[in-house]
Amino acid sequence: MTNAPEEPDGHHEPGAGGSAPDAPDALDAPDTPEPAKAPAVTDHGGGVWSIPVPIPDNPLGHTLVHLIDTDAGPVLVDTGWDDPDSWQSLVDGLAACGTDVQALHGVLITHHHPDHHGLSARVREESGAWIAMHPADTDVVRRTRSTGPEDWLRHLTGKLAAAGAPESHTAPLHRALTDGSVRTLPGSTAAVPDLDIEPGALLPLPGRRLRAVWTPGHTPGHVCLHLEEQHPEAGRRGLGRLFSGDHLLPGITPHIGLYEIPGSPETADPLGDYLDSLDRIARLRPAQVLPAHQHPFDDAPARAAELRAHHEQRLLELLALLTGRERTLWELTEALSWNRPWARIPFGSRNIAVAEAEAHLRHLLVRGRAEPVHGSTPATYRAA
Ligand SMILES: [Zn+2]
Ligand SMILES: [Zn+2]
Repeated sequence: MTNAPEEPDGHHEPGAGGSAPDAPDALDAPDTPEPAKAPAVTDHGGGVWSIPVPIPDNPLGHTLVHLIDTDAGPVLVDTGWDDPDSWQSLVDGLAACGTDVQALHGVLITHHHPDHHGLSARVREESGAWIAMHPADTDVVRRTRSTGPEDWLRHLTGKLAAAGAPESHTAPLHRALTDGSVRTLPGSTAAVPDLDIEPGALLPLPGRRLRAVWTPGHTPGHVCLHLEEQHPEAGRRGLGRLFSGDHLLPGITPHIGLYEIPGSPETADPLGDYLDSLDRIARLRPAQVLPAHQHPFDDAPARAAELRAHHEQRLLELLALLTGRERTLWELTEALSWNRPWARIPFGSRNIAVAEAEAHLRHLLVRGRAEPVHGSTPATYRAA
């Protein structure tokens, strides 16, 4: 949820006035992941390639940036983390695909997180390519650009206090606020896109048939992109290929927190949005999924069902914790099962855990399965 002042990991992007992890929830990844071996540029056939672009100091290893050939020139799906080594990997990857940055015609962004949108500004600068994004995520980009690090720290500190976090947890944030040691935030100079990605519409790619599918949940404007063309390998079942961004990953559960949009209604339910988005993708039945992390896989409906089961399990656990006892959000977060004991979860990841628990709690509140206890400070909750 946050890169803590003393923990400069940069893995998680603070959104404007709030925070939205850039990367899938490390708490739901294997506790001791295999060291990520960088995959090579892959030719997926039919004018589609993937280029691994490293994410510095992140267990995820890399973002799989995709390249689609079109009659107007090659188009990127996502760009990767804004870092000199990552840029060089993108440049070398494009060369391995037989093209270069200057030839790029456009950039399609699945969502605003910096491991996806980080290099877009530089790509546009060097190629003149347009950048397209769903307007809900473009709003987040605009807000993040106009939010100072102090505003964000203040917001986060307030949120944690309201959740019932102990003083020992919020102390480093208070210290950073008073000593002014706040660094710049990832996303503060991210490119403002040129074009809106319109849900359900075909994208303006001459000679290709690529449709935008709005899949809110991981972010409010996350999109998957469905290449509605026959898979280049004969005999595959299902229609075409799906660029799934962070929505559907083969071995990691994407992080779901609240959208952190100032003034957003209490009825906003990102987890509910995410579960609906899973159903939408399962119904598409693509022949293959090309995700933005890890590796391609085939059975989208099966993976969607696993992810749904994971969240349903967490909702049940939360309900059990709220039955017969009132608890704060912080107490709920500490008591939930994560991929390692709470004592071993570091500061920044604890904040992600709070956000994840909050999205699940919100889903129960919106559904009328849980309720706040009137007049409690910090707020406590119970099963309804
Ligand atoms: Zn990502
Ligand atoms: Zn993401």
